[in-house]
Amino acid sequence: MLSGKVLVPEKLDDDGVALLERAGLQVACRYDLSEEQLCAALGEYDALIVRSGTKVTRDLLERASPARLRVIGRAGVGVDNIDLAAASERGIVVVNAPTGNCVAAAEHTVAMLMALARNIAAADASMKNDQWNRNKFMGVSLVDKTLGVCGFGRIGREVARRCRGLGMRVVAYDPYCAAEVTKSVGAELCRSLDELLHASDFITVHMPLTESTKNMIDRNTLSKCKDGVRILNVARGGIIDEDALLEALESGKVAGAALDVFVQEPPNKFPTSASGRLAKHSKVVATPHLGASTVEAQLDVAIEVAEAVVTALRG
Ligand code: NAD
Repeated sequence: MLSGKVLVPEKLDDDGVALLERAGLQVACRYDLSEEQLCAALGEYDALIVRSGTKVTRDLLERASPARLRVIGRAGVGVDNIDLAAASERGIVVVNAPTGNCVAAAEHTVAMLMALARNIAAADASMKNDQWNRNKFMGVSLVDKTLGVCGFGRIGREVARRCRGLGMRVVAYDPYCAAEVTKSVGAELCRSLDELLHASDFITVHMPLTESTKNMIDRNTLSKCKDGVRILNVARGGIIDEDALLEALESGKVAGAALDVFVQEPPNKFPTSASGRLAKHSKVVATPHLGASTVEAQLDVAIEVAEAVVTALRG
């Protein structure tokens, strides 16, 4: 049996909490902590489990100086809200839940793709506004269109598989992916990002946010896309340069975008920023970082991260 205390400042499914408790850990679910309160509390805990809302920055770790903290668990895949270098300097292990929400994120991407192609959100909003306007919301078909998947990891592949089922041609760009992997799901591997940009009617990004992927879709890359391309981001805000996307939407180069993630989240707190303007843009379908938000994914992720935290604490 383990002993120790785990702080959970963001909602974690009860089954994940129960798993931690069965391992002998004392779990404190404190969903209303301010950053200052989190900082003050952190020193009492052996493990911290966060989702994407808590920013575990170097500054937080320096101010909290959490002598007991041995593990940070991320209930999800992206660890860009955790300063990995600062954690590692303090001997804190960071673990995540890489598989639990892949299907949920892929399904959300497909939902966004269809909403974008058929103007679902705008048409629904007009109905709620007592309108019946069949001409305004003419859509485009997906069948025989080319979808460019940037980043062919777990989610990119799930998206590709589903979109092949919709009759789309799927091309992929991922410098770390073998052609056999793309072939296995009926997609074609591009030799360069430019090749994907030239070929695609829709482009969806599924990479982590890193120095190499930040602003990967910018003015330069957008200029190489087909006129009227549609762009999706259900990965991380910042992979697409938001100012460049706004310009391209205004000029018509990009016909529409579907965004689940933003540089500034929540965008409504930054109304004049590019994130705030994109979320309200008439050519954008926006959702509030819902990619992993299914009942099933939250359960799977909670179990996966709880198991990883227990394993890490056992050393
Ligand atoms: P993954 O690690 O399985 O796949 C990422 C892929 O990106 C890898 O195959 C990698 O080779 C590729 N890649 C890295 N750098 C690249 C580059 N410069 N160009 C092209 N490809 C590159 O990750 P995943 O589980 O598929 O997750 C993908 C993204 O989705 C992550 O950013 C994750 O945080 C995000 N995500 C978002 C939500 C949401 O709620 N919106 C939910 C789950 C995951």
